[in-house]
Amino acid sequence: MERFDVAIIGYGPTGATLAHLLGQCGVKVLVLEREASAYHLPRAVHLDAEVMRVMQWVGIADALEPKTARHPGMRFVGPDGSLLLDWPRPQGPGPQGWRANYRFHQPDLEKLLRDHMAERESVTVRTRCEVFSIQDGEDEAELRYEDMRDGKVRRVAAQYVVGCDGARSLVRRFIESDMEDFGFHERWLVVDVILNGEKPELGDHSVQYCVPERPATYVRCPGQRRRWEITVLPEEDSVEIVRPQRVWELLSPWLKPQEAVLERAAVYVFHSLVAKTWRKGRLVLAGDACHQTPPFMGQGMCAGIRDAANLYWKLALVCRGLVTGTSAERLLGTYESERRPNAREYIETAVRLGGLINTCGTEEALRAALRTEDGTARMESIAPPLGPGLGTGGGAGRLFGQPVLADGERLDAAYPHQFVVVSEPDLIDGMAPPEGAAFISTAASPDAAEHLQRTGARAAVLRPDRYTLGTAETRQELAGLVAAIPPGPRTN
Ligand SMILES: Cc1cc2nc3c(=O)[nH]c(=O)nc-3n(C[C@H](O)[C@H](O)[C@H](O)COP(=O)(O)OP(=O)(O)OC[C@H]3O[C@@H](n4cnc5c(N)ncnc54)[C@H](O)[C@@H]3O)c2cc1C
Repeated sequence: MERFDVAIIGYGPTGATLAHLLGQCGVKVLVLEREASAYHLPRAVHLDAEVMRVMQWVGIADALEPKTARHPGMRFVGPDGSLLLDWPRPQGPGPQGWRANYRFHQPDLEKLLRDHMAERESVTVRTRCEVFSIQDGEDEAELRYEDMRDGKVRRVAAQYVVGCDGARSLVRRFIESDMEDFGFHERWLVVDVILNGEKPELGDHSVQYCVPERPATYVRCPGQRRRWEITVLPEEDSVEIVRPQRVWELLSPWLKPQEAVLERAAVYVFHSLVAKTWRKGRLVLAGDACHQTPPFMGQGMCAGIRDAANLYWKLALVCRGLVTGTSAERLLGTYESERRPNAREYIETAVRLGGLINTCGTEEALRAALRTEDGTARMESIAPPLGPGLGTGGGAGRLFGQPVLADGERLDAAYPHQFVVVSEPDLIDGMAPPEGAAFISTAASPDAAEHLQRTGARAAVLRPDRYTLGTAETRQELAGLVAAIPPGPRTN
């Protein structure tokens, strides 16, 4: 029987990103995907700087960026057309080295992820292969799948199986995880159009129409693509409402049929669910398989990419035997304890926001939902830290920025998949970095000094996913954190 370190079920954005990152660390990966090709219609239209940074690690961010559109911000508009809240988004590169937000076309991202998989020598991808059985054993898990290329049922074994198999996850059923329900389940009509010409009056902002009779969202997508998401009323029929004539009636406040081509119209039921168990034995969940959010924050896929970034280096350390026994168990256990509260908090914010859009919330309530204290709402202020996990103390579990180093290289390009200590010089003076880790003195990099200053600490230990293992004020505190650094996964 063929044997792999990790079997990934599902080749959507979560599974593909995880495969790239594991592959870069030399882990032997098998990806099994039921469909012949990537889903060709648009789903996600927004991604954030953290996701773009992960795509930088994968090696596709520079190719993706020209395919994205600027995202000036979101506006909340009342029933009379009045502006309830303006939520401008910062332009230009931010602390992550990328813009805070991007408009993109999900099939563009998925194509890049797949096209570049040829670079990962240790990754095998098999499409048209549907997994139907998983048996978790003492030394390995065994999978059975139907290979639709020749109609044969095949078996493979893997040390770990990651279910990146979407909302109706098979792996979740094998784990027998229930879902925590945040109470939002609504039908929305999603309409994508391609404009025939310019239509500048639609604008570049996303607009939330807080109209109680029929809440709706407009999103400006790259190129000539535009998206509307429109509430389906309880008495409306999901089949009737997607008929072109009805779709054009609903779009009539913004667009005439001769001005655009309908790319698709489909009714989605948006849920707000988080799996109660993300890992059992050798089986692990990631992406939509373990969380589903209403779309108001544009964070569904982003959460899956964060899962992949949190999980890959932990699996790499364990699969390569660099962390073993109870330490391996503990390390893998931190995946759920860190990611679950983070995913939950994004979903709770999206649900709150959805409620306000539905009920035409006041400006005050909208600001409260976005957790802003001043007149300018900021996504950064609602980006939650990780849950309790690997690090200790208040400085742990925060996403650190990406400094440009003295030679002009970005931190993540210089030290991929490694632990990095960013410190004021006196704290690391005479101290040697552990094997595979790196020290960056703020004396040698003014930009690193600026990033460190934002944490308010004198030193920060960054994990391969660039969240802080912890921060330190003294040499002694830093020595304690450095001692906790495991040997870094090798890069290919
Ligand atoms: C209308 C809409 C708007 C959205 N907007 C945004 C947005 O703006 N920003 C954002 O971040 N997110 C957004 N999302 C969410 C985003 O599209 C999803 O979160 C994302 O696609 C999930 O990726 P995934 O890889 O986890 O799962 P999926 O993309 O669902 O991939 C799962 C894969 O697993 C395969 N699979 C399933 N079972 C098996 C099996 N047994 N064997 C083999 N293969 C299997 C499937 O064929 C599929 O290819 C939106 C979604 C929708 C529907």
